[in-house]
Amino acid sequence: MTTPGPTVRTAVHGYPRIGPDRELKRACESYWKGETTAAELDEVSARLRKDVYARLRAAGVDDIPSNTFSHYDHVLDTAVMFDLVPARFASPAAAGDRDEELRRYFALARGLQGAPPLEMTKWFDTNYHYLVPELAPGTRPRLVGDKPVAEFLEAAEAGYRTRPVLVGPLTFLMLSKPADEAPPGWEPVELLDQLLDAYGQLLVRLGEVGAEQVRFDEPILATDAGRRATDRLGHAYRTLGALTGRPRILVSSYFGSIGAEALRVLKESPVEAVGLDLVTDAEGIADLAAVSGLGGTGLVAGVVDGRNVWRTDVPAASATLGTLLALTDELTVSTSCSLMHVPLDLDAETSLPPELRGALAFAEQKAREVVLLGRMLSGQAAEEGAGSPPPAPSFTDARVRARLDALRPEALERPADRDVPAVGPLATTTIGSFPQTSELRRARAAHRRGETTREEYDEVLRREIDRVIALQEDIGLDVLVHGEPERNDMVQYFAEQLEGFATTENGWVQSYGSRCVRPPILFGDVSRPRAMTVEWTSYAQSRTDKPVKGMLTGPVTMLAWSFVRTDQPLGDTARQVALALRDEAADLERAGIRHIQVDEAALRELLPLREEHRARYLEWAVGAFRLATSGLSPSTTVHTHMCYSEFGAVVGAVEALDADVTSIEAARSRMELVEELGRRGYKRGIGPGVYDIHSPRVPSVEEIEAALRLAVRHVGPERLWVNPDCGLKTRGYEEVGQALRNMVEAARRVRAAL
Ligand code: GLN
Ligand code: ZN
Repeated sequence: MTTPGPTVRTAVHGYPRIGPDRELKRACESYWKGETTAAELDEVSARLRKDVYARLRAAGVDDIPSNTFSHYDHVLDTAVMFDLVPARFASPAAAGDRDEELRRYFALARGLQGAPPLEMTKWFDTNYHYLVPELAPGTRPRLVGDKPVAEFLEAAEAGYRTRPVLVGPLTFLMLSKPADEAPPGWEPVELLDQLLDAYGQLLVRLGEVGAEQVRFDEPILATDAGRRATDRLGHAYRTLGALTGRPRILVSSYFGSIGAEALRVLKESPVEAVGLDLVTDAEGIADLAAVSGLGGTGLVAGVVDGRNVWRTDVPAASATLGTLLALTDELTVSTSCSLMHVPLDLDAETSLPPELRGALAFAEQKAREVVLLGRMLSGQAAEEGAGSPPPAPSFTDARVRARLDALRPEALERPADRDVPAVGPLATTTIGSFPQTSELRRARAAHRRGETTREEYDEVLRREIDRVIALQEDIGLDVLVHGEPERNDMVQYFAEQLEGFATTENGWVQSYGSRCVRPPILFGDVSRPRAMTVEWTSYAQSRTDKPVKGMLTGPVTMLAWSFVRTDQPLGDTARQVALALRDEAADLERAGIRHIQVDEAALRELLPLREEHRARYLEWAVGAFRLATSGLSPSTTVHTHMCYSEFGAVVGAVEALDADVTSIEAARSRMELVEELGRRGYKRGIGPGVYDIHSPRVPSVEEIEAALRLAVRHVGPERLWVNPDCGLKTRGYEEVGQALRNMVEAARRVRAAL
């Protein structure tokens, strides 16, 4: 017999929205190609939304979220709903024309000829990307869309009483950027009052159609800037809270603790409940104690990790929840953040090692953990039935540990005055991958299914490398690449070959728009049984007299785009990966490869949201990169590549990595980092991306030339490298050939005018 306990509700923040079989990806892509109509796309979307509601109800979750679906991105949805669309997209969309409406929506994300898309950047420290709204003092927010209302009504019709979820006004504004026309020093958050009017209208409207509660997501509160904005936070929710006829308001944050100050402000505001991430850092409970609990304000306690794939330690979480009962009159058990960051269902996996599988939980399983915890707390499920803490599969490798222990600090330094051979001025290259054609994908799938032999598959890859090398020679690039045709994904490719990693068959998560990735699971000590890239790189080098650049994925990126073990510090895990890469780099060098690129695409992404945690992160991140690269000869050119567009925070790290050449994304964010590096007298090579590869648009020679002239002004021609801003694998050959020709021609013109 279990004793009846307090009434406890259960909730999740959000759920994977791409569908069990990535239906959303396929539906969007065929709509973009003109193969399907707007109505067909809308129909698939509606089906996916209902599937999520049905799954959450089946799991037993009480508070089912709505408006967490998006055709591309929830920040973009918010911008469009409030008419915050830059003038270059302000086509006079015929009201009610759904096709027009969708076209404009996707144009904002993907660009049009002559109208570059909104900038895309990482959603906090995740690998999900949102589109950055551009706002100016003259911007007038107006409620022009009804997506949350329509999705609430659609769910109601299907029998689900949902809780609409909105990106909170503070988070929305603080994630936006000033448009070009905004005067220096002006910040989007100055639009708060006007935006609050529009949010207020929406809130009341949701109340009118029967929503009982609305959740506002304010993850910005987990950042330093958000924590400093408590005045605005209080103002925003006092304003919304004062509206008559409004639903109950829940303000939720995630990805870190919000601090006692923000908590106090929310407790004293009229909002009915506050949601906290109690997984990401442990301060939440101390903060709750510091404000003497929430009393009559409800607490939505995020105790099930929404971002990693490990089973919840149910007894420990249950104990935490027990403590929380004393700190609020109304407790809801929840995930730490949206489950969109983890794969949908562990049951879709058929080949994970059983000892690992027993330690895992994906979205389906996590929703059930939330429900189990809720039942235990309210006395409907016995503690004993809940099982023991999840097994921690510990796969240790004494050899790896001994090698790392034996490494001396000198092993991590390259000589400062190394003299890598000059290729420039304005040396041209690419970031590594060339288009993954459907032929390649088909060949890979056929090989995976066992329909072709290894030799047949390798032959396809060799032919592809031949073509990529010939194309690059024809275009006139200086440092070539093999094009990465053998890689399905820059992390997965290595994870499949390293010990300590497992890969999934169906573990897709959304990265941006229709793009999904399948992060591997790093569960044990990492080692390299054999060379991973030498064969393909050497083959490519054998086909040309120009230098071919070898391509490795760096330790931080391997971690950032995997689900990583939590039983040891990330830095220790990074060193193990770095050691394996160090061996690989040495093998490449031995095979005669003179340029080696170690991609750290995600260095910025793992940067802690709060300043106080950053120095320690950068220390281990930079240390791991150096461990991977410092064994190379002083005459080998070490390249690195990073793809992100907001640099202030990591300029120092770029310097500290000490690569000979760093290529970075700059096309969408103009040359900010280059300017900063120039100012700081940066000595090494720098390759600011001169055009945006996220969009199918082909850049003109003139536009690239202008970007290059700007870059030359900042860092001079000798250290300037010319490259696109990321790999080309998501593009088609037609546009890539033309874009690279334009790039090489632009470099030639700028060189000629030096
Ligand atoms: N070398 C990789 C590629 O070109 C880098 C990709 C990335 O930075 N995301 O695909
Ligand atoms: Zn990149």
